[in-house]
Amino acid sequence: MYEKCEEVLISRESLNERVAQLGEQITKDYEGKELIVIGVLRGSFIFLADLVRAIKMPLSLDFMIAKSYVGTETTGEVRILKDVDVKIAGKHVLIVEDIVDSGFTLSKLVGHFEGRNAASVKICTALNKPSRRVVKDLKVDYVGFDVPDAFVVGYGLDFNDMMRNFPEIRIYKP
Ligand code: 5GP
Repeated sequence: MYEKCEEVLISRESLNERVAQLGEQITKDYEGKELIVIGVLRGSFIFLADLVRAIKMPLSLDFMIAKSYVGTETTGEVRILKDVDVKIAGKHVLIVEDIVDSGFTLSKLVGHFEGRNAASVKICTALNKPSRRVVKDLKVDYVGFDVPDAFVVGYGLDFNDMMRNFPEIRIYKP
């Protein structure tokens, strides 16, 4: 299985450097605000763990699980399988995702939190695939790296629930 993902796209060092920059930017942008960081499981868990430690201000943290349905690429059916447990109204929500592809998942989640009267809702993603975007008006506020239209694994991202533990981002070639 490993021979299919020998090509490293983004090294651990580059990820570390970029996460530190994002943390600094987010710290500045949310100064004095009540911030809740929401990780979308499972792919975001490593990025989220790195990112929150690079944010130098008080914050609270929660998780959700969203699933986009196979075979529904054109309709973009996304279901929330686990919602957050905390109160959202009046808080500044930062959704943390592993990768934005079509944009269906995040567009659903942004709408979900706006509907619960969050003070603001922004998106931070480790990776972004702009060439694959279907939801053209989705605003992705913080991006680690833009990546080409390839299937990537590692740093939390899986192939069939495997390979999340690579410390770097690799390209999976079937
Ligand atoms: P979207 O709703 O933006 O199309 O899908 C986002 C989700 O698709 C991500 O959270 C991720 O689970 C999955 N995904 C999209 N592209 C990739 C990829 O290149 N590698 C992996 N491992 N997952 C991907």
